[in-house]
Amino acid sequence: CNLIRFSNLLVPKWHQIRHSHADEFGKILGSNGVQTTDLDAFNSDWLSSHKGCSSIVLFPKTTEDVSQILKYSFEHKVKCVVQSGNTSLVVGSVPIDDEVIISMRRMNKIINLDDDSGVLQCESGCILQDLEQYVNNRNRLIPYDLGAKGSCLIGGNIATNAGGLRFIRYGPLHGNVLGLEIVLPNGKILDLMSSMRKDNTGYHLRHLFIGSEGTLGIITKVAILCPMQLKHRIVSLIAIESFEKLLQFYSIVQRELGEFISCFEMMDRDSMHSVVENLKFPQPLSQYYPFYVMFELSSNDQTYIEDRLLKLYSKLQSNQTILDGTFSSDSDWKNFSGIKQYRESITESLKRDGYCYKYDISLPLKVYYEAVRIMYDRLEDSDYVRICGYGHIGDGNLHLNVTSKKYDPKILELIEPFLYEFVSKHRGSISAEHGIGYKKRQYLKYSKSYQSIELMKEIKKLIDPNLILNDRKLKSGQKTIEFDS
Ligand code: FAD
Repeated sequence: CNLIRFSNLLVPKWHQIRHSHADEFGKILGSNGVQTTDLDAFNSDWLSSHKGCSSIVLFPKTTEDVSQILKYSFEHKVKCVVQSGNTSLVVGSVPIDDEVIISMRRMNKIINLDDDSGVLQCESGCILQDLEQYVNNRNRLIPYDLGAKGSCLIGGNIATNAGGLRFIRYGPLHGNVLGLEIVLPNGKILDLMSSMRKDNTGYHLRHLFIGSEGTLGIITKVAILCPMQLKHRIVSLIAIESFEKLLQFYSIVQRELGEFISCFEMMDRDSMHSVVENLKFPQPLSQYYPFYVMFELSSNDQTYIEDRLLKLYSKLQSNQTILDGTFSSDSDWKNFSGIKQYRESITESLKRDGYCYKYDISLPLKVYYEAVRIMYDRLEDSDYVRICGYGHIGDGNLHLNVTSKKYDPKILELIEPFLYEFVSKHRGSISAEHGIGYKKRQYLKYSKSYQSIELMKEIKKLIDPNLILNDRKLKSGQKTIEFDS
């Protein structure tokens, strides 16, 4: 292809992959490790908002393979993009033009789970759900959980510093990822595979790669701390009249049951409507309500948390803090996972509306839902299908989504940069957990200072002077960035 599509924009092709490269990669990986046809799925992002035109996908099986691919690419200035599960929501994992795609899915060996320390070591191409299953069988769990768990790979999760549903209890990957093996853009292998929780010997280099979105190196191995699984979990879906009452409810649950909370999520009526309408899920409660909370408690003592929860519900229902609800323990797995599905399926359901303008912001809780309200006013005369908000309220992370039947530049112009100005005014983040990718790169300045961005660019140039790795993402390799002030 000669042109690429980003939303409605046509951009000329900027680099041509030569056939000689494919031959060289074939020498490193064998013919099985190089794919040059049927590449649509690798070139298109999960939201179908961008299509690159790469003509080569490489499938390394070992760290040494990755090292040789990068050594060759570095010497010949071949641009590359590393791809894991390709579930990025910010056009991070697909080529912008015709970069070589390095797919990590064949590097999927589990190396070891140490039952004493709970440290799991594995290659970076393992599917999150497979890892969860593996450690569950040894009474542990992976310290994060995403709706995309069936497709995303642990290397992609670390490269995006994924947050997800367990963040409220187990914190960010920066706390749980203890070791990494990384192949640098010049092909050198950086061994940071520690399993120690404590290590103050110089700069904490692994943190530079957590959340670096494939711009500084390729993660090939991981050591991650897996906490003990508690024996019982209870999930509840609660209906609430207003956002203000929802915040009250959150405070009460923190006060009364704080030590048991393992996830605390909110969704508004339109988010629930999308799941029920687009995915044909049954209505979970007797009617639609303005707001819902889906939260999970875990403990080794089921009777104790169930009793406390029931007492709390009866008090909160009689004073109208909550309107309706249902709950299930994980001993009734079908019901339990059924309740969780309402929250986990919103992203998938919104795709069915047509085009999705997706925002993943964090805000102080006082103005959290204000971001959705202002969007209703702003888009009043526009041809949108749905405006909705849901997210990890315990982490101040809102997923604000607007959908329309097809891409409409007028809607985009009304949202951006208006929304980012709002976020910046409240000192929030324009990307709480999905990253910057290609889609949000011009808005980095709303969350990062001029000095921070300059330093990021210096680091990129130091580690990847030929700018071969995911160069057009995160704006990391580019010379100038416009600042308003
Ligand atoms: P990819 O999409 O393939 O890659 C993501 C980025 O990481 C790209 O920039 C890529 O170049 C880079 N990369 C990939 N592998 C490596 C590697 N081995 N070394 C270096 N760089 C690499 N995100 C959340 O944070 N929380 C959520 O709750 C959440 N829910 C989601 C639900 C759905 C239904 C979907 C579709 C997405 C969701 N996401 C969520 C976004 C997405 O799943 C995450 O960003 C995820 O971590 C990406 O993993 P992946 O394996 O698909 O990586």
